[in-house]
Amino acid sequence: MDRLEALKEAYDILNKVTPLRRDCGTLCNKACCDGGIEDCGMYLFPGEEDLLKDQGSWLSIVPVDKVMPGLNLARCSGTCIRHMRPLSCRIFPLIPYLSQDDILLIKMDIRAKGICPLASEAEKKDLQPDFIRAVRKAAGILITVPEIKGFIFRISRMLDEYRSLPWFNLVDDRR
Ligand code: SF4
Ligand code: SF4
Repeated sequence: MDRLEALKEAYDILNKVTPLRRDCGTLCNKACCDGGIEDCGMYLFPGEEDLLKDQGSWLSIVPVDKVMPGLNLARCSGTCIRHMRPLSCRIFPLIPYLSQDDILLIKMDIRAKGICPLASEAEKKDLQPDFIRAVRKAAGILITVPEIKGFIFRISRMLDEYRSLPWFNLVDDRR
């Protein structure tokens, strides 16, 4: 399977599932879709830029070479064509995590804790099992593509760094 095939399959698996059975956007006024936050965005998994490049004005793709060479951020205006939303939006507030010894875990994204009430007040087990299973299944497919696996490994090390910062030690993303 090449990376576009893997990405399309992941998009499909994650198209209908949501973190809660009800609309969690009512808890936070859709905080994760606040298109007004400058310099923010969602990391694109390698190859997503090819899937999303002709989406029109709702999405812009910005290289972030200084922080993560070769990678891109997607920025939206707070609305999107839902079936074309990026993977990072589909899995939020979860994240696939590869340990140093190559074990794939699905974690609450420690970066989400300042934004998302699910990440700060709930535990992973409080999310819909179908959602967690879908994220795990999609991640299992994505890591079969070496380039995407490398990306997940890089993000995992970045999350390790976040965890080593004093103020992030106040929260726990292992649950
Ligand atoms: S910030 Fe969290 S609770 Fe709010 S809409 Fe996004 S995923 Fe749902
Ligand atoms: S692309 Fe869609 S789901 Fe993702 S942040 Fe923007 S509005 Fe929200």
